[in-house]
Amino acid sequence: MYLTEIEEFIQANNYPAFNPKAIFFDMDGVLFDSMKNHAIAWVAALRKMELPFTEYEAYMNEGRTGSSTIDGVFNNVHGRNATDEEKQKIYKLKSKLFESFKHSKRIPFVSKLLKKIKAQNIEIYVVTGSGQPSLIDSLDEHFPDIFQKEKMVTAFDVKYGKPHPEPYLMALKKSGLQPWEVIVIENAPLGVESAHEAGLFTIGVNTGPLEPKILTNSGANLVFDKMKNLLNHWDNIVKQ
Ligand code: CA
Repeated sequence: MYLTEIEEFIQANNYPAFNPKAIFFDMDGVLFDSMKNHAIAWVAALRKMELPFTEYEAYMNEGRTGSSTIDGVFNNVHGRNATDEEKQKIYKLKSKLFESFKHSKRIPFVSKLLKKIKAQNIEIYVVTGSGQPSLIDSLDEHFPDIFQKEKMVTAFDVKYGKPHPEPYLMALKKSGLQPWEVIVIENAPLGVESAHEAGLFTIGVNTGPLEPKILTNSGANLVFDKMKNLLNHWDNIVKQ
C-alpha cells in the first residue's frame, strides 16, 4: 500500500531510495487544534485596524510568518508592505487575542502517532511559522518527552518562511539527513508547498475546513482527512 506514491516520489526526484529516519511535524493544525483560534484572532486584529480579512483567508495563509501575512493584507489594501511598527502593533494584538482564548487542544490521535514514531527510533522535528517564545514549554506540557529544543525550526530561525522551502531545508540541514530520509506532516496548502519545494515526501492531513484537493494540488504525496487515518496506515508508509 502506498507503494505507487512512494515510487512516484523517488522517480520524480531522481532519489536512490525512500528510507525515513526523521519526521518533520508542522505545529498548528497538526499537533494542536489551534487554527480556528488563530483565524478568529487574525480577523479581529486586522479588522480593528480597518483591514478586511476573513477566516477562510486565514486558513489559506496558514503557515506564513505573522510578518508575511500582514504584508499580504497591506499589499491588497494599500499596495505596499506594512511598516515594522504596523506589524508589531497588529501582531501584538493578534497574539493577545489568541492567548485570551481557551488553550488549544491536541489534534486527536497525534499523541499516539508521536509515541509510535519515537518507539520506531525515528527522529521528530517541529517546523513552524509560529513565533511564540514559550513554544518548547507548551510542546513539553502537551507531549512529554517527545520534542527537543535543538530539533525545531520556528519563525525566529527563518528569513522567508513558508511557502518558501527555507524552513524545511533548514530542518533538513539540522538533521544531517538526505531528502529521501524525511517525511513532512502538514495540514495547510502553503506548508505543503514549502515541503514539496524542499523535495521532501509530504503527507497532508486535512484537519481544517479546506477542500482536501487543495493539499493535493499544493504537492502533497498523500492526503488523509483525519490524523486517526494516518495513524492507522502508518505501518504501510514507514516499514520497520
Ligand atoms: Ca499548520
